[in-house]
Amino acid sequence: MKGKTYLFIAHNLHSVAMGGLYHGRIMLHWCDTCHVPVLSATCACGATTRPVPVTPPGDARPAFPADIAFINRIYQHFYGETLLPEGNLVLLSKVPDDDRMEEIVMGGTVVGAIRFLPGKKIWEALPRPVAGNILQPKKGYVIVDDGAVPFIEKEGSSVLAPGLVAIADGVIAGDEVFILDRDLRCIGVGRARTDSITARTLTRGQIVKTRKNVSSSFLPGTATWNDAVVANEPELTRAKNASVAFVRNVILKNPDLVKTVSFSGGKDSLATLLVVLEACGPVPLLTIDTGLEFPETLENIRMVAERYQLPLIWIDAAREFWNTFHEQGPPSIDNRWCCRVCKLDPVREYIRDHYGEILSFIGQRKYESFSRMKNPRVWRNSYVKNQLCAAPIHTWTALHVWLFIFKNSAPYNILYENRLDRIGCYMCPASDMGVLSGIEEQYPALWSEWEKKVENWGSANEKSEAWIKGGWRKKVERSPE
Ligand SMILES: [Zn+2]
Repeated sequence: MKGKTYLFIAHNLHSVAMGGLYHGRIMLHWCDTCHVPVLSATCACGATTRPVPVTPPGDARPAFPADIAFINRIYQHFYGETLLPEGNLVLLSKVPDDDRMEEIVMGGTVVGAIRFLPGKKIWEALPRPVAGNILQPKKGYVIVDDGAVPFIEKEGSSVLAPGLVAIADGVIAGDEVFILDRDLRCIGVGRARTDSITARTLTRGQIVKTRKNVSSSFLPGTATWNDAVVANEPELTRAKNASVAFVRNVILKNPDLVKTVSFSGGKDSLATLLVVLEACGPVPLLTIDTGLEFPETLENIRMVAERYQLPLIWIDAAREFWNTFHEQGPPSIDNRWCCRVCKLDPVREYIRDHYGEILSFIGQRKYESFSRMKNPRVWRNSYVKNQLCAAPIHTWTALHVWLFIFKNSAPYNILYENRLDRIGCYMCPASDMGVLSGIEEQYPALWSEWEKKVENWGSANEKSEAWIKGGWRKKVERSPE
């Protein structure tokens, strides 16, 4: 695979069907000369780029080596082969789903996805047909008769029992499988309707339901993230200049307010800080410690303050969290008291006591989620009226943020290299189960300490076993009586 520069069309790529939900523009393109993602229609090398058909909102981010190893483990498990070769740039793009699903971009197209199944607590692999050009599955496949090939390949017909030549051992109903012709060429992917043993006995009926797909170009090739920075130089400069101008304009309109950057230890607040530093020089970092931050996050906050020689306004809200926990139990999706208790209230009081009123630059971006799309760029939270908030990187994608951080060699939080893509409280009830199960796996001590506290509160307050085992996250449970 390495260094090959052939171009072919992958048939039957998954349809980009969610367009109706979304009116933003997918910014992610690909340069087939540089083999890098580009956030504009032209690469810095001069080549015209082509759009990458990711599902909206399309906020793709670089896959770090741990992400790549994780995806390869999942594909190895289902197909006996890894998906992602060395040297190619890989991006991950979150897809709206019941829990957690991510599209995998390589060679300028979506080569597959991974999805967390909360019921089974496992990740499943969802390859696209183009993945059959990268790996030759050792398991998780069916082979079909020549007569069936055109119908499956061109029309997306299902694999029926009479057309089945062979099925790999160990396939169970519901598995995502590759559909191969007799020459072992991949002609599609689909969901197995039955297991291997039953499939071999059937004379009629559906064996695999083929996915509806559309075509897209795929051109693998090696590159580095530094190549991607170079390729995106004009767009990064444009985006940065626009954001710097925005910051200066907000300051101009509010000359009397003390300026701060709300700093969480996340990538978006780091990029925001870089923009603000260029626009107006050093400003204090405003940080809230909920007592539920990862140690790596606290370390990053200190490191950034030191690197850029910035005063750190450190608001300690850990006591508030545990006081409310004692009274109300853990925060849940329906009752996220933590945000008000640990963030909004302490910030409001701190500003009132020390400044009266301040201006805070915040790393909020509209591509983060559909709900953030319509948020204004300058606002006041109704709980914290003495804080004027402004979002300099509102229109940036995650890839803008990362390339800008790479370009500036800025000290980003090491947690991103540990398969986390959002930095916040480790037990946030709003996190996907896929993320929480990863944290449980990687931070067993942190997690079991939290579980113990939930369990103690749950038993003292007559909560069910299901509530203690994770139901707390969901919603307020009606009391049994
Ligand atoms: Zn290029």
